[in-house]
Amino acid sequence: MKFYSTRNRNLKVDLKQAITKSLSEDGGLYLPEQIPQLPADFFEKLPTLTLAEIGFEVSRLILDEIPEADLKRICDDALSFETPLVKVDDDCYSLELFHGPTMAFKDVGARFMARLLSYLLDDKEEEVHVLVATSGDTGSAVASGFHNVPGIRVTILYPSGGVSPFQEKQLTTLGGNIIALEVDGVFDDCQRLVKQAFADEQLKKERRLTSANSINFGRLLPQSFYYHYAVGQLMNSSKPIVISVPSGNYGNLTAGVIAWKMGLPIQKFVASSNANNVVPRYLESGNYEPKASVQTISNAMDVGNPNNVERLQDLFNHDLDALREMVKGYSFSDEETMNTMISTWEKQQYVLDPHGAVALSGLQKYKAEIENNVEGIFLECAHPAKFDVPVFKATGVYPEIPEHQKEVLHKPKRAMMISSNFDEFKDWLLHDEGCSC
Ligand SMILES: *Cc1c(COP(=O)(O)O)cnc(C)c1O
Repeated sequence: MKFYSTRNRNLKVDLKQAITKSLSEDGGLYLPEQIPQLPADFFEKLPTLTLAEIGFEVSRLILDEIPEADLKRICDDALSFETPLVKVDDDCYSLELFHGPTMAFKDVGARFMARLLSYLLDDKEEEVHVLVATSGDTGSAVASGFHNVPGIRVTILYPSGGVSPFQEKQLTTLGGNIIALEVDGVFDDCQRLVKQAFADEQLKKERRLTSANSINFGRLLPQSFYYHYAVGQLMNSSKPIVISVPSGNYGNLTAGVIAWKMGLPIQKFVASSNANNVVPRYLESGNYEPKASVQTISNAMDVGNPNNVERLQDLFNHDLDALREMVKGYSFSDEETMNTMISTWEKQQYVLDPHGAVALSGLQKYKAEIENNVEGIFLECAHPAKFDVPVFKATGVYPEIPEHQKEVLHKPKRAMMISSNFDEFKDWLLHDEGCSC
């Protein structure tokens, strides 16, 4: 299987290039040249498969150059935690994706990508430098997923004051091959710095840079696995399935679309966003108008120019009506998000984090406005304890951080402050030799 650029279908590379480079030379994102169909017997046995087994069955069709025994090892090792589908109400399920080591769904993608990248690097002496811009959860998942992986160094850029105190601890306390840069700016600045670094001719020559953001296909593919898992749990229902995805950079939703294109029976996706509503507006008006991000209580979705939109458009052959047919967009204010957290606690005694609350709000609105008689799934992407302040405010419940996570709170923060100026960042990349800040 080769991988093409979303900006030029004739520009193709092999798997190793796609994963180690992240971004195509022309600035496009990689997609596999075909989206293969899963065989009928996969769907027959789907309800009994574990996440790791699903990962193997799905990825062998796309990562077909990796010998099956190796691929199986990567899947077993990366996908070693549960993603339970929990019933919250009639025809309403929470897909809990926060049971991994950093309590966010990004563990799935980051752990898989780290193992894939490490596998693909045969020349381990030439260090690969992973750059990650994070609005919260990506950084910690990537840091944890890549921690102490030989031949790989990770630099995390996060917006100063733009992540929760607990997230900041997760980003800045690992040490070793993980370095945190605290950027005086917002998430979009972090993302821009990373993109500029990849486009910079001198850095391209002198440094081997790659990304672990959802622009990297190695992170995207594994996120399709849990859609299969969730739908597999509802396989004997006669109702169509609608999945609401809390969205920021739209990697998660794109992964769902890939699962659907491989044959998974999903009737509709709901793209649920917070006040950063570029995509719902695009679906409404047909005009894609990126704007500066605004801060919300669901901060991992504070993205003003979501980079996976390019992939979404490509997967629907740039046919806006086809995209609309499959994806309905809604956006919610912080107040609406809080109200969903409150009512879900009062009625169902289920504690939502703000991102999950945006997703459930989208599902509820879809059911109220468009079609009620469906099995609804919403993705609950972060543990409520990561957002204890709004959760406590909404529910009066103080969500406990699982024991294994608490140690980070006592470790000292180690981060270097930089401005949002690219030259400063570039200079640091060129001269840093394993900073011990
Ligand atoms: C990253 C993140 C999202 C958004 O996912 P995208 O793939 O960027 O759309 C939603 N919720 C949580 C908790 C996240 O960490």
